[in-house]
Amino acid sequence: MQSESEASVRLRFAPSPTGYPHLGNIRTALFNWLFARRHGGKFILRIEDTDVARKVEGAVETILDSLRWLGLNWDEGPYFQSQRLSFYREIVHGLIEEGHAYLCYCSPERLETMRREQAKRKQPPKYDRRCRNLTQHERTQLGATGIAPVIRFKTPLEGETTFYDLIHGTVTFKHDTLDDFVLLKSDGYPTYHLANVVDDHSMTISHVLRADEWLSSTPRHVLLYQALNWQPPQFAHLPMILGPDRAKLSKRHGATTITEYQKQGYLPDAMINFLALLGWSLDDRTELLSREELIKHFSLKRVGKTAAIFNKDKLEWMNGVYLRKLSLGEFVQQAMPFLDRDLPGSVKRPLDSRYVSQILPLVQERAKTLAEVPQLTSFFFLDELQYDTGLLLSGKRDAQSAVNVMAIASQKLGEVTTWDATTLEGILRPLTIELNLATGEFFGLLRVAVTGRTAAPPLFQTMAVLGKEKCLKRLDMAMQSLSTHPN
Ligand code: GLU
Repeated sequence: MQSESEASVRLRFAPSPTGYPHLGNIRTALFNWLFARRHGGKFILRIEDTDVARKVEGAVETILDSLRWLGLNWDEGPYFQSQRLSFYREIVHGLIEEGHAYLCYCSPERLETMRREQAKRKQPPKYDRRCRNLTQHERTQLGATGIAPVIRFKTPLEGETTFYDLIHGTVTFKHDTLDDFVLLKSDGYPTYHLANVVDDHSMTISHVLRADEWLSSTPRHVLLYQALNWQPPQFAHLPMILGPDRAKLSKRHGATTITEYQKQGYLPDAMINFLALLGWSLDDRTELLSREELIKHFSLKRVGKTAAIFNKDKLEWMNGVYLRKLSLGEFVQQAMPFLDRDLPGSVKRPLDSRYVSQILPLVQERAKTLAEVPQLTSFFFLDELQYDTGLLLSGKRDAQSAVNVMAIASQKLGEVTTWDATTLEGILRPLTIELNLATGEFFGLLRVAVTGRTAAPPLFQTMAVLGKEKCLKRLDMAMQSLSTHPN
């Protein structure tokens, strides 16, 4: 049974569709989701689309797709703030009536000049509150000019606001560092501050978990809650994510949008595990945690105050671990779209899934991402290989002796009736001795002949999967490519 307090645990992820979600956004979503699931609460999705100018086409769909891909299912929503405009306006008019907000007619030009002057004097940008104390007469006059006003909050001029943050503890901001911030813009849209507070209240959000960058907005929100006579939710500001050089995480660090990680062949479970450890830990050792374990153990007590460091190598390593954990069937299913996408166009589609199922076990140990699979396996699918004769002649072989060796191997292999890895090994190993060659040299030559490359999965298994006909044909082609070789 849920306790009463658990039943009222309600968290939200409230992205702005001003860009595609990146790691930081989704880490926030994940922590909210984990907290909700941990406490049997609800996870609500709310799209904060009130910044019309910065809205990015396709961002909403990408946010939803990213959450779905990662399995961060929501219980309510998505709610769109742009569909609730009259609701915010109503609230803001109540605030004006109660004396907590006022109309401001200052032009953008005036505000800009003021900002520049302040910058020159090395002061933080701050509205000078000119419209806060307009007389009724002045207000009527300005109203008659047709200028569309903004509505600002009357921040108390003195004193301070203190609130408790579940990660940072008690936090205090002096009011003289705060501005008379805008609640409603001249286009009739609410600002982030207003819409965020109104919605967290109306959606009865119990805990707000969001990135540290919003900490300085929180005193404004607390003041708004007080003005509206509402109880604020509990706040927890999550540590930033930095690159290994401790600079703000960016593309330069190989970090990118979540969709990009999907395209690069990371698995949702690996991403979830990795993201969970960006700011939270179970202890000082445990790196691998399943979704169920994360839900079971997640707690704000173990969310750090200091920035988390993004490490791409760790993500790759972790993804490799998750790839190896997949059953063959799952691995084939996951890799198939990547093979389809990235194998050369000359390879016949649809791909033969039985053949794919024979190939993939040979690379499951090696692939760190699904996107590597086509590259690791393309030679299995190609009809003809392009030989780099230099590779066939490595180890200082001359062309003639390489051709001779391949001809003997080809003849022996032609006689094989049971084409499997054990039989092939049983034939080729003794042949090495007969030919008086080092195994590395002989197998290396065969490997280049049948795969076109020096690094490939284990030779006998590879040959077994390729099949007799293909192997013999490739040996022929390799010999031919050497016959035109100048030496
Ligand atoms: N819309 C804000 C964002 O994009 C939400 C911040 C918050 O959670 O309050 O991050």
